[in-house]
Amino acid sequence: LSERLESAFKNIKGEAHISELNIANTVKDIRRALLEADVNYKIAKEFTDKVKERALGEKVINSISPGQLMVKIVQDQLTELMGGTEASFNADGKPAVVLISGLQGSGKTTFSGKLANYLKTKKNKAVLLVADDIYRPAAIDQLKVLGEQVGVEVYSEVENKDAVSIAQNAIAYAKEKGKNVVIIDTAGRLAVDEMMMNEVANIKAAVNPNEILFVVDSMTGQDAVNTAKAFNDRLDFSGVVLTKLDGDTRGGAALTIKYTVQKPIKFVSSGEKMDTLDIFYPDRMAQRILGMGDITSLVERAQAQFDEEQAKKLEKKIRRNSFDFQDFLDQLQQIKKMGNLKDLMGMLPGVGKAIKDIDISDDAFKGVEAIIHSMTPFERANPDSIDVSRRKRIASGAGKNVNEVNALMKQFDQMRQMMKMMNKMPMGMMKRMTGM
Ligand code: GDP
Ligand code: MG
Repeated sequence: LSERLESAFKNIKGEAHISELNIANTVKDIRRALLEADVNYKIAKEFTDKVKERALGEKVINSISPGQLMVKIVQDQLTELMGGTEASFNADGKPAVVLISGLQGSGKTTFSGKLANYLKTKKNKAVLLVADDIYRPAAIDQLKVLGEQVGVEVYSEVENKDAVSIAQNAIAYAKEKGKNVVIIDTAGRLAVDEMMMNEVANIKAAVNPNEILFVVDSMTGQDAVNTAKAFNDRLDFSGVVLTKLDGDTRGGAALTIKYTVQKPIKFVSSGEKMDTLDIFYPDRMAQRILGMGDITSLVERAQAQFDEEQAKKLEKKIRRNSFDFQDFLDQLQQIKKMGNLKDLMGMLPGVGKAIKDIDISDDAFKGVEAIIHSMTPFERANPDSIDVSRRKRIASGAGKNVNEVNALMKQFDQMRQMMKMMNKMPMGMMKRMTGM
């Protein structure tokens, strides 16, 4: 999904300005990417319609950084669709009961072990795991192995063939032992069937859980939605758990399930190890789906904000060797418009780490600006006219000393020398160097 969306953004990245047509094309590409990632058509359409509406409404076209704003709109919209902020998880009770549901192989038993580990280590809870799969003795053993791994007791009754009474007995046992949370791992089947549904529904009715979690394999795509719907119709579950996000995941399932059943995604599970459980953060998921690197956003910012017309004017001035202090000031302002200097430099490959701890403030330009502001228009347009007495006056006007003015004059001269040299180069070479 990420790759497809990235290519959808190519439309914007390549352009300095965004047109209405450009937005329409980008939106179409995003929709195609979502469809390919198994997002249901209706949802993809509604999503992209909203993106388009916001893009036009927020005047992306006229903004100083259209590419960036467009990306932000998509990301915000994705975040919103996936729940906005992280959902709460209710583990308070005497004891709190968590019922785990889902198809066979979705990852229920593995998740039960992970959740037990999470509640024990992160929330300081005394947890009891309940093996409530009455059909496969191997399922009980599987949970016991996991329980041992994470140091959580596992309750089971090998002889009992009534899932409801096992759950009730387990809760009574937990009360007796002073446990805070009971996690009931149930039996799943390969497909939705009446018997399985009756069983979980009966357990629900008997134990009144604080949380009913629906576990779904994020690799299953479109089918996952129908399953989620069937389980929700019957159980009215409180949250979704996405498993196997470590695989070649189809992010579409997350989007579609959330949208269809309108229940929060609460946890994501990404591995077979017991510590690979995370709370679900919608904004992180949105970022992950969009998969945008820092470098691409630098490109967008730079290209979007570089005023083409000004660039052409500047090129002409450089060609005529008439680059002056006013142009220099304009250039500084262009750079400043592109954002925080440190952020910008940090996005360059290899530079980010190197400058992580160095203090680069936007004030770096302030001294230079103050000096140029202290020049008269005549002086700005005629740098060669700035003699010693003028330098003294400029320095005192800017609250600087003459050495600082001299340093700037020297830098400026070097820059003009460079420009002269560039003028002697063939046109193509200069274009490559200046990016104009
Ligand atoms: P259940 O039938 O719903 O209880 O599913 P299981 O917990 O037994 O999991 C089915 C298979 O998926 C097992 O082989 C697990 O090791 C594997 N599995 C579960 N969760 C994850 C996960 O997050 N990532 C990966 N890679 N494998 C998982
Ligand atoms: Mg199982």
